[in-house]
Amino acid sequence: MSAVSSSIVVAVDGTSGSGKSSTCRGVATALGLRYLDTGAQFRAMTWWCLENGVDVHDADAITARVDEVVIVSGTDPGDPTITVDGIDVSSAIRSEAVTSAVSPVSTVPAVRTKLLELQRSIIDGGGIVVEGRDIGSVVWPHAQVKLYLTADPAARAARRAQEEGGSDLSATEASLRERDRIDSGRTTAPLTMAEDAVHLDTTPYALAEVIDLVVELVERASSAP
Ligand code: C5P
Repeated sequence: MSAVSSSIVVAVDGTSGSGKSSTCRGVATALGLRYLDTGAQFRAMTWWCLENGVDVHDADAITARVDEVVIVSGTDPGDPTITVDGIDVSSAIRSEAVTSAVSPVSTVPAVRTKLLELQRSIIDGGGIVVEGRDIGSVVWPHAQVKLYLTADPAARAARRAQEEGGSDLSATEASLRERDRIDSGRTTAPLTMAEDAVHLDTTPYALAEVIDLVVELVERASSAP
C-alpha cells in the first residue's frame, strides 16, 4: 500500500519531450494514484479542429465552435484513455499533423478556459499526478508537490525518436524547440516554472531513476507535518 495522502496533487510541468508522460505514469502507478495527461486534451481539441475543417491558426473560428467538443479523459495510469465525442482518439492525437498544430490551438484563450474547467473537475478530490505546461502555475497552484522537468534538447529528440520510431533527429529536435517557443511565448498560461516548483533536469538519468526520485519526493512531501 502507498504511504502517500489520498488527497495529494502532484503537478508536473516542463518542456516537450522532457519525459513527463513516462515519469508521471510510473509515479502514479507506484503510488496508487490517478493520472491526468492535459497535453492529450489539447491534442484532442486539435484533432477535432483538423477533422472538422476548422483552421488551427484562426482563433476566432476555434472560439466559435469550442463548446461543441466533448472530451473525456480516463485517469488510469495503466490505460490513460481519451475520447472526443465518444470516439477513441488515443492513437490519432499522436499523429504528426496533430503534433505540429497543437501549440497554435493551445494559445486560444477559449480553448484554455474550456480545458481548465475540465481539468479542475478531474483533479478535484486529489490523489492524482497531473502533467502539462501550466499545472503548478495556473490549473492547480496549491498542489502539494510541483515539479518542472527539463532535458537537453538532443536527449529529448533522441528519446522521442526512439518512442515514435522516427529517424530524423534534427527535424524532431526542431519540432520540439518550436513547440517550446510557442508554449513559452503565449499570453495565456504560458509554459513556466512555478516559483515553488522543484526543477529536475532528467538528461543524465534513466526513466526508472527519475521515477524513483519523484516517488521519494512525493512520499517526503506527504509525510511532512
Ligand atoms: O504534453 P504534450 O506534448 O502532449 O502537449 C501537447 C501540447 O499541448 C503542448 O505543446 C502545448 O502546446 C499544449 N499544452 C498546454 N498546456 C498544458 C498541456 C499541454 O498548452 N497544460
